[in-house]
Amino acid sequence: MQARSHESIIKEAVEMTKDPEFKGYIHDVGGPTADFRRPACDKQLTRGVCTDKQCLFPRPCKNLKATHTDYVKLLRKLREIPGVKKVFVRSGIRFDYVLADKDDTFLRELCKYHVSGQLRTAPEHVSDNVLKLMGKPESNVYKEFCKRFDDMNRQLGLEQYAVPYLISSHPGSRLADAIELAESVRDMGYMPEQVQDFYPTPSTISTCMYYTGVDPRTMEKVYVPSNPREKSMQRALIQYRKPENYDLVKEALLKAGRKDLIGYDRSRCLIAPRKKSADTKTKKKY
Ligand code: SF4
Repeated sequence: MQARSHESIIKEAVEMTKDPEFKGYIHDVGGPTADFRRPACDKQLTRGVCTDKQCLFPRPCKNLKATHTDYVKLLRKLREIPGVKKVFVRSGIRFDYVLADKDDTFLRELCKYHVSGQLRTAPEHVSDNVLKLMGKPESNVYKEFCKRFDDMNRQLGLEQYAVPYLISSHPGSRLADAIELAESVRDMGYMPEQVQDFYPTPSTISTCMYYTGVDPRTMEKVYVPSNPREKSMQRALIQYRKPENYDLVKEALLKAGRKDLIGYDRSRCLIAPRKKSADTKTKKKY
């Protein structure tokens, strides 16, 4: 892992303030996983990163030194630059790394100064079957992060939301997993605008699973949703409230034996039965 120096980032920020078009807003500092700015542990400096385990998955390694001290210092310096009104962290932070840090200074300053109403993070799914294949923490880790984010905003008197970035049809995701994801979206009370259907990209374990149907880490078989109709259904389920997704969502629920999610109870059901149109009723009379 490499981190850009404070001096280099500050220099660029100062240059930006000299631009006549600069309005005082720095829209992102850090890019994806912005809060990773140091080696995971002391051992990594001398012996390199472990090849047989991961620092945060399935849970944080006992040697991990989770700290946001350097990132907090950088953000403070950027806020102090004359002409800078706001500095945002938009691309993303690793929420499991935030939880691993016992000091809440970063979370406090993130909520107070660096979020503009919505914080995007990438839990990517909620089904633990799928998350395990993705190499992501279990869903209760994201729930815990959302709780801490909400608590902190409440303490600060702010109304801000954690917005999840979700992926449909990742290898391992069956219709039942996609429905679990849709139910979690229902419980959030918020329909994500950004949904990405899984797309194989070079040199990733997910792509290897997609093409081989096998998890190369365990050599176990993995279900791969590659049928275009099923992929459309999985994607539609995440945005089940969109009228144009109604038919696909209904088809998915019936196929998965989840008719119980079609009904009028808005706290439980994803879609309501469609009322018969006046035309249909009229035709039936004759
Ligand atoms: S897995 Fe643990 S010991 Fe290995 S590099 Fe990561 S934090 Fe260090």
